[in-house]
Amino acid sequence: MSTLKITDLHVSIQTEAGPVEILKGVNLTLEEGQTHAIMGPNGSGKSTLAYTIAGHPRYDVTSGSITLDGEDVLAMATDERARAGLFLAMQYPVEIPGVTVTNFLRTAKQAIDGKAPALRQWIGDLKRAMDSLKMDPGFAERSVNEGFSGGEKKRHEIMQLQVLGPKFAVLDETDSGLDVDALKIVAQGVNDAKDKTGLGVLLITHYTRILRYISPDFVHVIVDGKIVEEGGAELADRLEEEGYDRYLSQEVN
Ligand code: ADP
Ligand code: MG
Ligand code: MG
Repeated sequence: MSTLKITDLHVSIQTEAGPVEILKGVNLTLEEGQTHAIMGPNGSGKSTLAYTIAGHPRYDVTSGSITLDGEDVLAMATDERARAGLFLAMQYPVEIPGVTVTNFLRTAKQAIDGKAPALRQWIGDLKRAMDSLKMDPGFAERSVNEGFSGGEKKRHEIMQLQVLGPKFAVLDETDSGLDVDALKIVAQGVNDAKDKTGLGVLLITHYTRILRYISPDFVHVIVDGKIVEEGGAELADRLEEEGYDRYLSQEVN
């Protein structure tokens, strides 16, 4: 049983006025196979948490820890984190002109496994992932993220998730810019990975919409860099009705 554990995580960013603390002591334990939703108003630190787990250099961890099965994630370079089994779908994926989706994924797979995937198996895996995401076969030969629509970017992320087979995935605003049909396909891809490999999911979202298709086991509400409330799926239902106002007015008092 794999465990991703975040303990009293404090994270700052450098600004012109000096360092500003964004995460102010976040605690979270994610077990294999579980889906945890991180919800909160804009600017509460959700993406900061995602980038910190990924090892983005802009985010300084000033105290606290992140461990994966007891191993110190914060001591790992970003590529080591991927090899250890962490997957981060970036909110704004970068373009990689001249590198096709096929080659990108194969190189990533090779980097993670330490050896090239067997060709026949690989082609089959890729085709199954693309079929399940209802993607045109020609997509595999396009340059990564170049001219991708919002929906294509998201499908590409989920395709990576399916072929790379991580232990834990951090999905930041995966629903943004998707119409309902694309959202359903993407959610199905995540749910397949949960069923097939026991993927643990940290699903970061401002809106409750995606949670209709990927049901969370736990919901955590983050406001001003701290988790202020935790519950099950019913908490997301309540947020859908009530929004974040009561947390924000508490903060003012
Ligand atoms: P969320 O994803 O919940 O909307 P973020 O983690 O993106 O929140 O941002 C949290 C806070 O940190 C915000 O006040 C935001 O302005 C600030 N912040 C985050 N990243 C940066 C950055 N790279 N430069 C300046 N401010 C940032
Ligand atoms: Mg603290
Ligand atoms: Mg964000």
